[in-house]
Amino acid sequence: MSSQKIPSKHTAAVVKNPGENCKMVIEEIDTPKPGPGQVLVKVTHSGVCHTDAHLMRGDWSAAGADMLCQVGGHEGVGSIVSLGPDVQNCAVGDKVGMAWIRQTCAVCTMCMGNGTETRCPNQSNHGRDADGSFQQYAIVPTNYLIKVPEGIDDVDVGPVLCGGVTVYKALKVSEAKPGQTVAIIGAGGGLGHLGVQYARAMGLRVIGIDGGEDKEKLAKKLGAEAFVDFTKTKDVVGAVKEITGGKMCHAVVVVAASASGYATAPLLCGKNGTMVAVGLPGGHVEIKITPMTLFANGTRIVGSNVGTRGDMEEALDFAARGLVKPTVAVHKLSELEETLDDLIKGKISGRAVIDLWA
Ligand code: NAD
Ligand code: ZN
Repeated sequence: MSSQKIPSKHTAAVVKNPGENCKMVIEEIDTPKPGPGQVLVKVTHSGVCHTDAHLMRGDWSAAGADMLCQVGGHEGVGSIVSLGPDVQNCAVGDKVGMAWIRQTCAVCTMCMGNGTETRCPNQSNHGRDADGSFQQYAIVPTNYLIKVPEGIDDVDVGPVLCGGVTVYKALKVSEAKPGQTVAIIGAGGGLGHLGVQYARAMGLRVIGIDGGEDKEKLAKKLGAEAFVDFTKTKDVVGAVKEITGGKMCHAVVVVAASASGYATAPLLCGKNGTMVAVGLPGGHVEIKITPMTLFANGTRIVGSNVGTRGDMEEALDFAARGLVKPTVAVHKLSELEETLDDLIKGKISGRAVIDLWA
C-alpha cells in the first residue's frame, strides 16, 4: 500500500440526531484506513445539495430514507492520498470525485440493465448510509470513484457531481430536441442553474421559473430566454402560455424542493410534452393531472434519479469544455449549518460550496 503522510484525526461536520432536532457539530474524528477496494481521499471542496438538508432534517423518513451515517455531503472533490490493499485502477495523487452513489451491487437486474444502475436497490450513498464529503478525509470505494478531467476548477467540480449530472440526465430523459422549449422549475437553485446551462448547450430554449430577483438575474444571465417569478405571478400556467404563444413546453424539469413546484408542472407541458420529476420535497406531495388532459395532450410523467457513471463522464465533459460553469459561493465548514438553513429558505442562488481547509 502506498501512502502520503496522513493525520490520525481530521475535521468533520458531524450530524447529531438527524431529524427535526438535528444539530451539526464541527469535530475532530478519527481518520480511517482504506480497506480492500477502497481509497482514502483528501477532500478539498464539497458542494452543498438540498438533499443534504432533506436527510439531516428527516424530510424523507416517511419514505424510509433516513440519514444513517454521521457526516453528510455527496459532491466531494479531492485527491487520493492512500490506497487500500489490492487497489490497482487508480493512484495516489489522482484527482477524484465522490458523488451520491457510493456503491451498487453490480449483479441485480437494475445494475445489469442498460442505464438503470442508479435504481440498484442494494446501493449505498455518500452522506446517507456512509460518511460523505463534509470532512477533510473520506473513504471512497473505487468502483464509483469519479476521475475528474482536466479543465475544471476544483471549486466547480463538486456541483457537477450531483447537481449537474442529475439535471443533465433529466434533460436527456425528457427527450426534448434542439430548438424545443424546456421549463425548469427551480431554475435559480443548485440543480436549476446548471440545468439552464446544460439545456442551452444541448440546443434547447429555456423558460426559467423560480422566485426573486437574484434568481431571475442568474437564470437569464445563464441563458434563460424568459423567467416567471412564482412568488409574484399567481398564474404560472398563464404566464408560460403567453411566453410560448399557447404551445406550452416540450419538457418541464422540476428541480424545486417544494410541493408548490409540482402544483402546476404537468400543465406546463404542451402536446406530447414530458414532465420530469427530480426535486424531492418532504411530506406527502402528489402530482395532479386529469385523465382528460393526459388523453388530450399525451403528457408523459417520468422520474429521474442522478445519473450513471456514463452520464457523469458526459456531464463533467460539458464542464471541462467550458459549456457549463457552476455559479458558486464558497464557505467554511463552520458555516455549513447556516448555509443549509439558507438553502431551505430558498436564499441561495446557484450552489454553495464548502472549502474543507479554509
Ligand atoms: P435548491 O434549494 O438549490 O434549489 C431549489 C430551487 O427551487 C430554489 O431556487 C427555490 O427557490 C426553487 N423553488 C421552490 N419552490 C418553487 C416553485 N414553486 N416554483 C419554482 N421554483 C421553486 O436545491 P437543489 O440542491 O437544486 O435540489 C433541488 C431538489 O432536487 C431537492 O429536493 C433535492 O433533494 C433534489 N435532488 C434530486 C436528485 C435526483 O436524483 N432526483 C438529485 C439531486 C437533488
Ligand atoms: Zn445531491
